[in-house]
Amino acid sequence: MFNPSDEHLMVREMVRNFVEEYVEPQALEYDRLERFNLDLFKQLGELGLLGLTAPEEFGGAGMDATAAVIVHEELSTSDPGFSLAYLAHSMLFVNNLAVNGSDEQKARFLPGVCSGQDIGCMAMSEPDVGTDVLGLSTTAVQNEDGDWVLNGRKMWITNGCIDDEGTPADIVWIYAKTGVDDRGRNSISTFIVEKGATGYSVGQKIMDKTGMRASNTAELVFDDCIIPAANMVGEEGSALMHMMRNLEIERLALAAMAVGISRRSLQAMNRYADERQAFGKAIRDFGQIQRHIGESWAEYRAMRAYIYDTARKMTLDSGGHRLDSDGIKLFATTAAKNIADRAMQVMGGYGYVGEYVVERLWRDAKLLEIGGGTLESHQKNITKDLARDPDAILR
Ligand SMILES: Cc1cc2nc3c(=O)[nH]c(=O)nc-3n(C[C@H](O)[C@H](O)[C@H](O)COP(=O)(O)OP(=O)(O)OC[C@H]3O[C@@H](n4cnc5c(N)ncnc54)[C@H](O)[C@@H]3O)c2cc1C
Repeated sequence: MFNPSDEHLMVREMVRNFVEEYVEPQALEYDRLERFNLDLFKQLGELGLLGLTAPEEFGGAGMDATAAVIVHEELSTSDPGFSLAYLAHSMLFVNNLAVNGSDEQKARFLPGVCSGQDIGCMAMSEPDVGTDVLGLSTTAVQNEDGDWVLNGRKMWITNGCIDDEGTPADIVWIYAKTGVDDRGRNSISTFIVEKGATGYSVGQKIMDKTGMRASNTAELVFDDCIIPAANMVGEEGSALMHMMRNLEIERLALAAMAVGISRRSLQAMNRYADERQAFGKAIRDFGQIQRHIGESWAEYRAMRAYIYDTARKMTLDSGGHRLDSDGIKLFATTAAKNIADRAMQVMGGYGYVGEYVVERLWRDAKLLEIGGGTLESHQKNITKDLARDPDAILR
């Protein structure tokens, strides 16, 4: 279930080795510095991971949703912040383009992002709008030359800047309002903004995050930003479909990050329970410690099975997986936060300091309950989907 083919197993082993050799040694330092390790990130391109789900003809690896889960799980056992940067690039930009772009756009942009020459991001959220995404206020208006003129601000954009000098992402997948539809709702379109576009800049790199500090988060500014007509993705007003399709793989990948955090936390508390002696015996012998380990094991196994089962059923080029993509993220993210918390509790004072890793995982885990949809939005979606399709409970 977790490695359904030899190819999946090879990817897992390759990423696991890469994590051990290169990711783990830098993870604590980059968290402390609140810095994105761009050089290390580019090495993922050499391994063929940056275009994991993109077609091979455009420089990708042509793999499936299960492979995406494997890579995010493995990276997050060591450095969830680095894994979040990977997610923003490979799932929110690359996969989005691979699924929704035209062949001309794929040929133009995919080779650069698959190799790691260009770093991509996805800009949906705004300073005043997150969950209520249809209420976004960034606008795009077509001028007489046929170009689009973009105005607005995007907030919380992972990879929005790639360094501490305010260098913006090389390429942005962005949603903007282009009118109002016949039901009076905002009509939203998708555009690709390239580095060097007039009026595109970084407003700020957002500092002092609780966790995920090894990924850069930025506010992006679009001030009369000119976008060529050829950089509109799909038809005018078709962004909702792009968003919904991409949110499903985003939630799957975020849930996979919860698996990585849980696995590492469980390993840490399981090992420590033998090493630590108190009152003349290993703390593993205390019932309260057994409860921490036992509950964590069961939750870890349950989330892992639910997530890989959902991945197995998920097709990347169509939507229709919302119920379980919400379900896995709702369950796994809170479970991961609780498992990291239990690991810290089992490890006492040592768990509370950076050297023992779980304090960082505990901080990183919290973001998973907010980014890519809050817990409340998952509860709302699940309830809505079950009203529409009550038989899902029987299947
Ligand atoms: C580190 C980080 C990285 C991020 N990366 C990206 C990125 O790369 N690209 C991007 O576009 N965005 C990104 N985000 C934004 C993220 O997706 C949003 O923070 C998230 O969608 C929530 O939006 P919000 O913060 O505006 O909160 P709000 O939507 O304002 O929500 C505030 C509270 O109200 C609740 N709420 C809102 N509506 C409802 C409702 N209908 N019913 C019940 N409760 C409700 C929410 O659940 C929450 O508890 C990132 C955020 C962070 C912190």
